[in-house]
Amino acid sequence: MFGLMQQHELLISGLIEFAQSNHADTEIISRRVEGDIHRSNWAQVAKRAKQIANALKHMDLAVGSRVATIAWNGYRHLELYFGVSGTARILHTINPRLHPDQLAWIVNHAEDEVLCFDMSFLPIVQAIHAKTPTVRHWIALCDADRLPSDSGIPGLQSYEAWMGSQSSEFEWPIFDEHTASSLCYTSGTTGHPKGTLYSHRSTLLHAFGSALPDVMNMSATDSVLPVVPMFHVNAWGLPYSSAMVGAKLVFPGPALDGKSVYELIEQEQVTFAAGVPTVWQMLLSHMKPLNARFSSLKRTVIGGSACPPAMIHTFKEEYGVEVLHAWGMTELSPLGTLCSLKNKHMALPEGERMKIRLKQGRSFFGVDLKILNDQGQRQVHDGKSYGDLYAKGSWVIKKYFKEIDTALIDGWFPTGDVATIDEDGYMQVVDRTKDVIKSGGEWISSIDIENIAVSHPHVAMAACIAIADPKWDERPIVVVVKKPGLALSKEELLAFYVGKTAKWQIPDDVIFVESIPIGATGKILKTKLREDLFKHKQS
Ligand code: AMP
Repeated sequence: MFGLMQQHELLISGLIEFAQSNHADTEIISRRVEGDIHRSNWAQVAKRAKQIANALKHMDLAVGSRVATIAWNGYRHLELYFGVSGTARILHTINPRLHPDQLAWIVNHAEDEVLCFDMSFLPIVQAIHAKTPTVRHWIALCDADRLPSDSGIPGLQSYEAWMGSQSSEFEWPIFDEHTASSLCYTSGTTGHPKGTLYSHRSTLLHAFGSALPDVMNMSATDSVLPVVPMFHVNAWGLPYSSAMVGAKLVFPGPALDGKSVYELIEQEQVTFAAGVPTVWQMLLSHMKPLNARFSSLKRTVIGGSACPPAMIHTFKEEYGVEVLHAWGMTELSPLGTLCSLKNKHMALPEGERMKIRLKQGRSFFGVDLKILNDQGQRQVHDGKSYGDLYAKGSWVIKKYFKEIDTALIDGWFPTGDVATIDEDGYMQVVDRTKDVIKSGGEWISSIDIENIAVSHPHVAMAACIAIADPKWDERPIVVVVKKPGLALSKEELLAFYVGKTAKWQIPDDVIFVESIPIGATGKILKTKLREDLFKHKQS
């Protein structure tokens, strides 16, 4: 017997309709490429999303065609999120930090037909436009009078001229909730990038799940700052979950330096921010010498790579900001786990609670996790046994875009991470499978070695990688950037490890460098670091 309740498709257009009806005057703030602050609200976003829908209708673009963006976090990008997906076309967000050859490859693979870009990315577009024949329309996200006459891009239009004159009357179509909504390629440190194609249903379920109190705890009282880019896994779904709860959104645009982010947090009274550790490192380094304080920030989600315990401590102890450590992947929309405590932890001393907060967290309803050993057997959840981490759930990938084979093994997605899970379901990433250091048959977590290094007061950044060793197969070495003006010797740092990790896990060597290469999504690029170091050893 079926239930007798209504059935409505879970569609992204529903989110913007809801935000318009219920949170019309809630603000959407953007620092623009031009440097000024732009103020909009959910009603404006909804109206302009409908103008985009009408503009797309006049372009003869089939349902399912791809509309690409190369853009910072801002209101125009947000309007495209709703306007493109709402019409059953697919928003393809592209990471501008990739190499132009890789960008052209991605555009061609996705067969993008429209490409919208911020003017700061004009040089990139100039570099790829002749190599991307599927793109029929080039749109610069700017006012008509800002369009250069000599861009070299035939038919280039300004966004405001393209959509501004369209009617804002539009009835969002109703279609199957499994329809594709957006497309994001993985960073692809090896081989070609692969496309993750989200659906309306997966996007809405992810938004419901991520807004829960034990997850991102989002509310209409929040002022949300997604520092995590809208070109990387839909800014962790924050544009959607913010519309779902009616939160204020604050977009940083291209200004991701510590000073700009701090000023924006204070000016717009941000309560909740999200980003990768490298961004927060810049923010904390800016604040420390000025003895600056936060007047509104309550919590921040940190993920994308392991958040150093020292950072969690600093936010909590010095600034009273709660860090929610999260783990996710492009293929998981991205949220897989988030670290929040349980009722039984409330009575624990702060030190014990902090130990739990350092983990990547527990999965929430909608995502299942398991760990398997080398023989494919399930490992017990005791917080010690480690194995390859697998995920399944309603917002986890099934197959990569245009690939024939499934991305799954026995119905589970292999994440490429090695992890432990404890009795309470808290998962801790030991390492990326390819980064873990295999020394004499034992594994050393490069993350653990890095965390110890960055807890030294003179270390700004550290990366641990393996070097080949005739006796042990691999041994760890640590590459370190010192804090400006502070001294540190190899011997001092190695002595600092004593007592903090097993003796055999202490790195064999310390290499001091000026900077460590950071990849397109703000993570340490270990492949590049290994290459650089190898060159360095040969020269
Ligand atoms: P991406 O798809 O580019 O977002 O990368 C996903 C990968 O980032 C995961 O498979 C992890 O290796 C890594 N990652 C994400 N969050 C964390 C975290 N909190 N701690 C450690 N690694 C993380």
